[in-house]
Amino acid sequence: MPNAHILIADDDRALVGTLAWVLKDQGYEVTSTHEGNRVIPVMAERTPDLVLLDIQFEDSDGTDVLERIKADDRWRDIPVVMMSALTLEESAVRTLGLGAADYVRKPFRVRELLARIQAQLRMRAILRSAYETLREAREALNRVQEQADQRRHLMDILHDVTDELSSGEIYHLLARRVARALGLSQCSVVLARQGGTPRVVATAYETGISRDFVLSLDKYPELQTALDTGRPVLVENVMVNPLYRHVRETWARDGTRIATRSVIAIPFAMEPEEAGVFFLRRNLTEPPLTQGDVEFADTVIRAAVSATQRATLIESTIADNRRLEMLAQTDPLTRTLNRRALSERLGAEMERVRRYNTTMSLLLIDLDHFKQINDTHGHLAGDDVLTEVAALLQRVVRAVDVVARYGGEEFVVMLPETGAPGAEAFAERLRELFEGHPFAASRGQPIRLTTSIGVSSFPGFGVESVEDLLANADQALYRAKTEGRNRVRV
Ligand code: GH3
Ligand code: MG
Ligand code: MG
Repeated sequence: MPNAHILIADDDRALVGTLAWVLKDQGYEVTSTHEGNRVIPVMAERTPDLVLLDIQFEDSDGTDVLERIKADDRWRDIPVVMMSALTLEESAVRTLGLGAADYVRKPFRVRELLARIQAQLRMRAILRSAYETLREAREALNRVQEQADQRRHLMDILHDVTDELSSGEIYHLLARRVARALGLSQCSVVLARQGGTPRVVATAYETGISRDFVLSLDKYPELQTALDTGRPVLVENVMVNPLYRHVRETWARDGTRIATRSVIAIPFAMEPEEAGVFFLRRNLTEPPLTQGDVEFADTVIRAAVSATQRATLIESTIADNRRLEMLAQTDPLTRTLNRRALSERLGAEMERVRRYNTTMSLLLIDLDHFKQINDTHGHLAGDDVLTEVAALLQRVVRAVDVVARYGGEEFVVMLPETGAPGAEAFAERLRELFEGHPFAASRGQPIRLTTSIGVSSFPGFGVESVEDLLANADQALYRAKTEGRNRVRV
C-alpha cells in the first residue's frame, strides 16, 4: 500500500532512523518520535495509517500509549504493531490483548517487518471498505425508515381526521392537501352515485365551481372519461386536446372565455356504489399539468383513499366486536345479562366490596308455579311473561343494580352498596309489585303470578365466593318455596 502513512515511535534513535529510511524507500510516508509522551500529540496532528510502537520508552510505558490509542474513537481501528527487545511471550500476549495488531521482536529482519506492515495495511483497507458498506447500508436503512415515518405521518393525520370528520369534510381535506402538494390553483372532488348525476362534494381554492354544484358531464369530458374507464385522464391543453373538441365548439358558439389550461381527472372508489373523481386544474397563467403530476396525484389519492377506507373498516370492525361481545353476554329472550356475564359481574363486585370494605346483596327470584302458566296459556305466552318480568325488573332497579336471567324462570338482581336489611326491603317491594301486576301476555285474561325471593349478602356468614353467595340465596329461596311461596326469605 504505497503512500500509506506510518508513525514510528521508539526511543532508539538509530533504529528509528534506519526504519524510516527503509520505509520511505518502500514508498511509505513516515513520521517519527523518540518519546512515548509525544505519540498521542503527533497522532492528533495527523492520523497515521499504521503505528510502529516500542514497548519500553525512557519516559513512559508503550503499553499505556497503546491503551490510550485504542481508547480513542478516532484511532480504534488503526493497526498498532508493537516492537520490543523483550523475549517474554507474556508481553506479546499482553499487548495483543490490549488491541495491538501484531508484535515483532527486536532485532527484526527488515523483510519480515515489511511483510507484516503490508499485511496489516491490507487488513485495514478491507476493514475500512466493510465499514463503508455498513455505513451505506445504515444510511439506506435510515432513508427507508424516514420514508416509512412520513407515510405513517400521513396515515396518522388521515386516521385522526377520519375519526372525527364526516366524509364530506374528509374529501375537502384531501382536496386541499392534493392541491397544496401539486401547487394547483384549483382542485375539487366529484362524486357520482351509480346512474346519478355527478355532484361536487368538496373544493379547494376553486373559483369556478362550488360545493353541491351539479356538473353536466358533456361540459367536462375528462370526468366522463375517467368515470367510464376508471383510469386517470390528463388533458395538458384544453385548447388542442381532441377530447375537448365539442366543448370548444360550445365555447365558440356561446362566446365563453376559458381560463383553464390543463386538467387531470383521477377516478377513485371510496364506497362500492359510488364513483368519485378528483378534478385538478391549472390556469393559462400557470405551467401545464404533466404525466408526472398525474402519477404523483394518483399515488397520493390512492394512499389517502385506502387509509380512509381502512379507518372506516377498523371502525366498523370495532363496532361489530362490541356488538358480538354484547351478544355473548346477553340472554336472547329477555335481553338481560346471561348467567355467565352475571358471574363475572358478581366476581368483580365482590372484589370491590373487599377492597373498599362495603357491602352488596343478591336477590334470587323464582316465579311460582310457572309450569302452570305454560300449561294454561302456552309456551309462547310463557316466553312473553318472562320478557315482561325482565322489563319490569329493569324498570324498578337502580342504575347501579344488575338484572340477569339465572335460569328458565329464575332471575337475579345484584344490588351493590346494599346490606341485608335494604335488600330484604327491596325484595319485599318486588314481591308485592309482581303480585299486583297483570301480565298482558295472553290474548284473554291478564296473567297473574307470584314470586318467591331468596336474599343473600356479602359480607355474610360463610360467604367467600360467588358460588357461596348464590348458594345462600338458593337456600333462602328454597325456604320461601317450602314455607308456602309468594314470600321473601333471607
Ligand atoms: P315452583 O313454584 O316450584 O317454582 O314451580 P315452577 O313450575 O315454577 O317450577 P319448575 O322448576 O318445576 O318449572 C319451571 C318451569 O319454567 C318449567 C319450564 O317449562 C318453564 N320454563 C323454563 N324456561 C322457560 C322459557 O324459556 N320459556 C317458557 N315459556 N317456559 C320456561
Ligand atoms: Mg325454578
Ligand atoms: Mg318456579
